[in-house]
Amino acid sequence: MSKLTIPFGDLKRQHDALRPELDAAVTRVFDSGWYILGQEVSAFEAEFAAYCGVAHCVGVASGAEALYLALAALGIGPGDEVITVANACMYQVSAIVQTGATPVLVEIEPTTHNMQPVTIEAAITARTKAILPVHLYGRLADMQQICAIAARHGVPVVEDAAQAHGASATDAEGRERRAGAWGQLACFSFYPSKNLGALGDAGAITTNDGALAAKLRQLRFYGWGQKYVTELAGGRNSRLDELQAALLRVKLRYLEAGNEARRERAAWYQELLAGLPLELPPPDEGHVYHLYVVGCENRDGLRQHLLDLGIGCDIHYPLPAHLHPAYASLGYAPGALPETERQAGRILSLPIYPELSRNEVEVVAAAVRSFF
Ligand SMILES: *Cc1c(COP(=O)(O)O)cnc(C)c1O
Repeated sequence: MSKLTIPFGDLKRQHDALRPELDAAVTRVFDSGWYILGQEVSAFEAEFAAYCGVAHCVGVASGAEALYLALAALGIGPGDEVITVANACMYQVSAIVQTGATPVLVEIEPTTHNMQPVTIEAAITARTKAILPVHLYGRLADMQQICAIAARHGVPVVEDAAQAHGASATDAEGRERRAGAWGQLACFSFYPSKNLGALGDAGAITTNDGALAAKLRQLRFYGWGQKYVTELAGGRNSRLDELQAALLRVKLRYLEAGNEARRERAAWYQELLAGLPLELPPPDEGHVYHLYVVGCENRDGLRQHLLDLGIGCDIHYPLPAHLHPAYASLGYAPGALPETERQAGRILSLPIYPELSRNEVEVVAAAVRSFF
């Protein structure tokens, strides 16, 4: 594999800068002699709940596990339907299928690539048990509208906030509300490359509902009530490690600065890519730019051009959920979600991370410009 001049991501830069603090966190766990569900997990859960502006956070093994457990905690199972989008890789669709429920796929907005609220109502049936929007690329879905529709139909909302730690929007009362504080439940991933990333797999669910939080604490721990006594069937081992929690506590302190740096880099791209035949992400003050995604008619040509110049880029995501071979049985033919399918052929993610320098952004932008 040839080495890229500007890699798509570079966690080593981030971790090298935080190394003394991360080392101290690891040492703290060694010294404690406690590795599973101890004070680091409890402390991280409290700190992350406070950051999101919710009452409870339950640490779990990954973002994918968070999605499954959230749906399981709501009692979703065979015969139920969950409304979601098809452009967010397969994470939520897999979780829905794991519960035995059926994913019902709706369209996305052409500019934000998030769930299109006007398509939700027509998809609601007597079997709808949840609406699951994804805050894709770090931008909140239109939560005011989605929550209003859900409330009208008495259906809970589960956020997939795996790309949106710290993203925010204004609620109906005019208050700024962060990802994780809109739905009945919200799912986070701390996969290393996310805006808040562990040094391994980790995830969490946030909620204001104490009963759901208690249920999630049992589900992640074999369904036990007290030790060795199973109260909830179908519990699994989906715990957040002490070690990852200790590392996440360090990195949580840098999340706001990291998000601010991502916004600054997005603004640089916006400035340097202006006037090109590209669709740039529409401005949004609450966006945390987990990914910086542009739309391009000749996407594959641009992608190859950048790779040839040693510039990392990627497609998030190339194949909508309903077109994966595993999900042919869902019964959506090609063409069923025209906007979702159209975008899958146009999108390209450029490098964006807090450690990316102004000079590097200029090199990327010049490379894009040289394609046209
Ligand atoms: C990363 C991601 C997930 C899955 O998280 P893991 O921790 O890798 O299991 C789920 N949903 C979205 C939108 C993601 O980006």
